[in-house]
Amino acid sequence: MIHHLAGHTRDTLAAERVRSGKKPGAAKERAHALVSWFAGRRSEALDPSPYETALPEAVPAIDADGTVRFAVRLDDGAVVETVLIRQPSRLTVCLSSQVGCARGCVFCETGRLGLVRNLEAWEIVAQYAIAARHLGLRPRNVVFMGMGEPLDNLEEVLRAISVLAEPAGFAVPERRITVSTVGIVPKMDELYRRSRVNVALSLHALDARTRLSLLPVARRYPLEDVRDAVARSPRTVLLQWTLIEGTNDSDADAEALAAFAGGLDVRVNLIPLNPGPDPALRAPPLERCRTFQKRLADRGVRTMLRLPHGCSVGGACGQLSGRLRTDAGEVTAPR
Ligand code: SF4
Repeated sequence: MIHHLAGHTRDTLAAERVRSGKKPGAAKERAHALVSWFAGRRSEALDPSPYETALPEAVPAIDADGTVRFAVRLDDGAVVETVLIRQPSRLTVCLSSQVGCARGCVFCETGRLGLVRNLEAWEIVAQYAIAARHLGLRPRNVVFMGMGEPLDNLEEVLRAISVLAEPAGFAVPERRITVSTVGIVPKMDELYRRSRVNVALSLHALDARTRLSLLPVARRYPLEDVRDAVARSPRTVLLQWTLIEGTNDSDADAEALAAFAGGLDVRVNLIPLNPGPDPALRAPPLERCRTFQKRLADRGVRTMLRLPHGCSVGGACGQLSGRLRTDAGEVTAPR
């Protein structure tokens, strides 16, 4: 039994209630009431027992641009980050899927921690609920770009997606949910098969040596396999390119990226690097970023240049955790 309401869709709740002896009709009705109540769609009082409904403690920090970063303390004392990004036409919640991460990308604070543990689906959905309650409304967009590699925790991430998309509950359309990955090829195919969410692929480099120096995962999944996986996507894939001065911001890099994108249904997100664990790695000057963008656009590649938010929409996953830890002390390890 999943003990927290944040881990349930209407159907999983109804099935649990039938298993505990309730009649199917009554079970379904009660399940509908519970998920819509938890999502803030009913104002009347309701006793949710035997389910838990309390959300983890969350400390918000508000940036000048309105971005809200929540340090969310889970039951075991581990802290993950959740970011609410306000843009003129949209509200987006950036969710964490793991405490720490095993993938070790060199520019990422989360990667430095190693994997502490996977989050359960309810802990992922609870992050969204925290942001929704903070706002008093349900944001329509969700990105899995916080701490962790979501495809390393695919079952719980898929379960969380089904809860977020539950029409009687939070009702976030799957097409407005984006899951980022560093390119775990077999899991990308599984994600295509089992959901209708969007995929954002962290690419960052195309020559084998640079890619390997940034992303250890490149040893396991070579570029040709990753490109084939992008080509198999039933939907447009977002290619994430974190711009790092002197590493992947040259004209030749832009040409290579345009060649990679040729013939694929992709859009490119350029994200100037947020300061990370290695002080030698920094963002290029803005002018250089714009030149890189123009070169791609001139080659017919749809490209956005994103200036970093707390967790950039389309930014590299995990990049903000260093800042969170600096603000909140060393808080990411469980008690
Ligand atoms: S960038 Fe993402 S996949 Fe890479 S170490 Fe950080 S959290 Fe993990």
